[in-house]
Amino acid sequence: MELSTLEKRKQYIYSSKKIYFTKPVEIVKASGCRVWDTENNDYLDAIGGIVTISVGHNHPRIKKVVQGLLDADHPQHVSSLFLSPFMPEAARLLSKNFKGDSRVYFVNSGSEANEVACLTAREYTGKKLIISLRHGYHGGTNATLNLCGHGTWKYQHQPHSDVGHIEAPYCYRCPFGKSPNSCSLECATDLDKFIQTCTSGDVAGVIVEPIQGVGGFITPPLEYYKKVYEIIKDHGGLYISDEVQTGVGRLGKNFFGAYDGQIEPDIFTMAKGLGNGVPVGAVIAKKEVSEAIKHKTHFNTFGGDPFQMAQVCEVLRIIEDEKLILNAHRQGEKLISFFNQLKNEIKCIGDVRGRGLLLGVEIIKSNNDFDPQKCDEILNRCKDNGLLLGKGVLKGNVLRIAPPLTISDIEVDEFMEKFRASI
Ligand code: PMP
Repeated sequence: MELSTLEKRKQYIYSSKKIYFTKPVEIVKASGCRVWDTENNDYLDAIGGIVTISVGHNHPRIKKVVQGLLDADHPQHVSSLFLSPFMPEAARLLSKNFKGDSRVYFVNSGSEANEVACLTAREYTGKKLIISLRHGYHGGTNATLNLCGHGTWKYQHQPHSDVGHIEAPYCYRCPFGKSPNSCSLECATDLDKFIQTCTSGDVAGVIVEPIQGVGGFITPPLEYYKKVYEIIKDHGGLYISDEVQTGVGRLGKNFFGAYDGQIEPDIFTMAKGLGNGVPVGAVIAKKEVSEAIKHKTHFNTFGGDPFQMAQVCEVLRIIEDEKLILNAHRQGEKLISFFNQLKNEIKCIGDVRGRGLLLGVEIIKSNNDFDPQKCDEILNRCKDNGLLLGKGVLKGNVLRIAPPLTISDIEVDEFMEKFRASI
């Protein structure tokens, strides 16, 4: 007898690949913010894979682009050793969002983008140490696993690379015991203390997510970015902004989230929403920084492939044409006030955080402790009521809400109704 999808998955796939929900869902159809399972149940998709669907599933303009390439027998792949119009055009569109002269390198994932960013920073500065944040997540390859600030992704036998970790701007559970009114950004000045006390002073850079995604949408105050930027510059390092989750305008103000904090990072990395579901990552660096690795050849086989790049171009055009950054802001504001109101009514909501359409709701016990079990129950109940959410943070007790940037007023109303009914 043929095995079911779940049985096959259990039998043939690495079990380190985790799956959501007590009763896993197989999605077979998708359009805009909606997806359907094998029993034709429909769901409002408020997590978009994992923060990946930016312009909605199967956007008609993207379908047209892909169908056009297929109809024209366009090559799937010729390698970047040959010319193709899509890669440079995608870079041009992307560069419009960068303040200053930039160069772009396309890769296949966020992990790979961060690898290239760290390599670039190390070659540029002639230093090795990259500093990242506790609760941060930067990928599943060797260097990026080392950058992660979660025990969940620390393997015993994984070789170390030159990294160090500072405290996170986790205001709800401030590592310095402060509250936002009484704090002096100790989490940011921890960078200076760390460099002075734990290193030779030789530092290649710092890597920061504007909002810590996997870490449970930990959201620093806006002044945080500037402080970290000033400190790393004082020590001669570069500022890398990991915008794998926050890029493409998801935070509702700027295309790159770090610009919200009035800083100009040396390097941005992206993935997820940039491809709206196709595997693509990008590094966008100041021109002089990008040139630090030009004395060698750096190559990857699939980065910049025509099908990826044509879709990236269309994603970037749609974001602009449909004013999706503004929509992320408007819909995000509505959702934040809804969650804040619920927080007053429902005891298990400890914290509401995020900006734009990257919102986190921390689920707690009555003594303020983490409540991963209840978080899981809510996640499952939302799913049963036709609403897909994500979860995150070290203890698994934060609901993650990141719908496509196209979410409409009616869909936001539907979200609120389903979420209220579930919680
Ligand atoms: N950086 C951040 C902030 C991420 O959230 C992720 C993925 N969750 C990555 C890097 C790694 O991206 P990928 O899974 O595409 O390698």
